[in-house]
Amino acid sequence: MALNVQKIYADLHPLAEVGGTEKKTSAYVVKVLDELGIEYKAPVGRTGVVAWIRSGNPGPVVLARADMDALPFSTEDGGTCAIHACGHDAHTAMLLCVAERMLGKVQSGTLKLVFQPAEEIRSGALWMIEDGVLEDVDVAIGAHIRPEQDMPAGGMCSSLNHVASATVRVRFIGKVAHGARPHLGVNPIDEAMSFIAMVNSEHYDPNKSWTVKATRMQTEQGAVNSLAAWCEVMFDLRAQTNDIFYKMLENMERQAKAVAAGYGGEVEFENVDYCPAPEYDKALMELIDEAIVETVGEQRLYGACGGGGEDFHFYKEKKPQIRSAYFGIGVGAAPGLHHREMHFDPKYLSAGVDVWERILTKLLG
Ligand SMILES: [Zn+2]
Ligand SMILES: [Zn+2]
Repeated sequence: MALNVQKIYADLHPLAEVGGTEKKTSAYVVKVLDELGIEYKAPVGRTGVVAWIRSGNPGPVVLARADMDALPFSTEDGGTCAIHACGHDAHTAMLLCVAERMLGKVQSGTLKLVFQPAEEIRSGALWMIEDGVLEDVDVAIGAHIRPEQDMPAGGMCSSLNHVASATVRVRFIGKVAHGARPHLGVNPIDEAMSFIAMVNSEHYDPNKSWTVKATRMQTEQGAVNSLAAWCEVMFDLRAQTNDIFYKMLENMERQAKAVAAGYGGEVEFENVDYCPAPEYDKALMELIDEAIVETVGEQRLYGACGGGGEDFHFYKEKKPQIRSAYFGIGVGAAPGLHHREMHFDPKYLSAGVDVWERILTKLLG
């Protein structure tokens, strides 16, 4: 049987399921693995699937990862629906074809194919890790389709400029008092304003990119002639390197507590969710560059692009001795990733399968 990446993509696209609910998608993956006679385990990490192609000979364990989840969008009747607006269906389709291509080609070590749920909610990689997916892994590789803003369709790049990112919730709890007697209360809005000013005047290495900003602010609802019981501020943080990222989080928490103590109030500080920055392996990136040039030619090799966060980088963070890389497959996705109308010509996925195959053959062949 020769799998067709465009056909699998067309099958998976309408199955779109949001993070943690990928039952139909993982059932499809399992069905194809069964047909190929490939050893697998499911569920792993709630709704994920792990498959193995073993050489029986010594060599590295190479983890190749595809994510499977879609994004939620609102519908006209006020409900929500899932749409594959980030191309994770394409990633799953490519990895299934790669599984078939690698049958008989793994001469040393083991290929571990990871179909991961819940990337968009920064949880799936952690669920897979909790279920032991990293235990024997030496190398971890991921890939993502790229939109037209990053490179033309048919282009490839050996790394993506992901950043560490987090959502932080800070709730200042003051003390309610009548507007005529503010001296008897603690105004949580004053605390929040002081804290935001403090966060905005914090400085980190200007040679690296980083950003932190308040994105939402709300108070307890009620009579406007009395102090609110609490004021909550949400922050979005991003940083190019993990050292800056963790320093930012540490400083924010310390400052929130200091502000609350200064005003005589209390504070809740919650790192709602986060993912770390990548730490790519240079030799592995060179190997991917080579694989791209050998497969599609030098004129289609582009420099690093992209942005945003990726929970794939938890694999490296949780097991630092792993060599990790993450490459980009230009498909000309328009108008852009995470847009409900996101679309591209799936013919460009064939080159992605070819490059995956060449990378894995270099590592395991
Ligand atoms: Zn996405
Ligand atoms: Zn994505």
